[in-house]
Amino acid sequence: MRRASVHTLGCRLNQAESALLLDGLVSRGWAAVPEGENADLHIVNTCSVTRGSEAKCRRLIRLLRKRSPEARVVVTGCYAELDAERIRAIGGVDLVVGTADKHRLPDLVSALDGVSPIVRNRIERRSFAIEGAGIFAETRANLKIQDGCDQFCTFCVIPLTRGRARSRRADDCVREAEALAARGHREIVLSGVNIGTYSNGGADLARLIDRLEEVSGLDRIRIGSIEPMTAGEAIVARMERGGKLCPYLHLCLQSGDDGILAEMGRPYTAASYAALFGEYAHRVPDVGIGTDVLVGFPGETEEAFRNTMDLLEALPFYHFHVFPYSEHPRTRSARFPAKVRPDIIRRRADEARALGEEKKRRFHERFIGRTLDVLFETCDRSGRWVGHAPNYARVAASSAEDLANRIARVRVEESSVAEARGTVEEVLG
Ligand code: SF4
Repeated sequence: MRRASVHTLGCRLNQAESALLLDGLVSRGWAAVPEGENADLHIVNTCSVTRGSEAKCRRLIRLLRKRSPEARVVVTGCYAELDAERIRAIGGVDLVVGTADKHRLPDLVSALDGVSPIVRNRIERRSFAIEGAGIFAETRANLKIQDGCDQFCTFCVIPLTRGRARSRRADDCVREAEALAARGHREIVLSGVNIGTYSNGGADLARLIDRLEEVSGLDRIRIGSIEPMTAGEAIVARMERGGKLCPYLHLCLQSGDDGILAEMGRPYTAASYAALFGEYAHRVPDVGIGTDVLVGFPGETEEAFRNTMDLLEALPFYHFHVFPYSEHPRTRSARFPAKVRPDIIRRRADEARALGEEKKRRFHERFIGRTLDVLFETCDRSGRWVGHAPNYARVAASSAEDLANRIARVRVEESSVAEARGTVEEVLG
């Protein structure tokens, strides 16, 4: 049997799409093999978020080419959309497939010799459906519900690589969710570029969540990353009422300084973000809120950075991902003056990350003496079961029982930056 491997760089959405590609290949007679194993076909699903990520994609392509000279190498993803010619120039790449045709890739590779070396078409702005259901090694499955973005933040290349905002048909989202649940996934993470803009046949994100909550076998629905201005009352209300929607969200902040937010093209202020955060914190018990922070954006003065740090300190975040600003030549901010020196960017990123660690430690500490319902995923090297609570707190517990993909109530006894630790009181199912 021909063997295929999909290598994924970048975001959760790319992971969701890679899982769908694997499913499409398997249903066409390919055997899926993990990254790092020998294969007849290597698909590289690339990322273009920074120049660093693009360089990483090129390195991986070269490595695969060298390691498996006989294998076919096919490249897709955001970087393939943005710079197909450069990827072809690496040499030994059999096919480059842009965003519009990514979902057709399992068919394209089956007839590789008859296909032109670069397939790149206009990205149509219309609702879409996707065949199959993602194949995931993990307990949690990512469900792609949306693609593209209309916001054009000045630092972001995504509207160029993935096109304008469009939504997956609601029926098709439900169909894949049912298939994922039938494969044993108890938790799905709603994925997209700007999922709060979801809109299909009268259903917005909140209505889609209502429909997904009816999927039997599914215990948890998690919102991945969401833009603050799209995470208003309808979502707060769904979380407040409980049910399958997890009390967790990744509410992208980027900066806590109004001047920098305006320069970034972000349509909210620090105060409006804090007000929304407060709404969640007040109405959704133990909500876990993570965020993205971009430090060293052009024009970010020490005072502007301090405004960001003050906001991060003031709000009870669970965790943050800190991104040092890295210029991408295809973004508007690449032309902005007042660039911040690399050593200052590094120092600010380190400071923000240190606060992020402290936030995580405090978040886990909150649960000492209390119980959390944990969906266990894996057993680590020291024999402890590790999983996540609905609010995404990472929890570890020792148990002689096989807890893989099971939900158990854990009494938390101690905590660290990495996790809350405790004892299993009861296996719930
Ligand atoms: S909202 Fe997000 S994906 Fe859209 S342009 Fe801004 S940063 Fe990029």
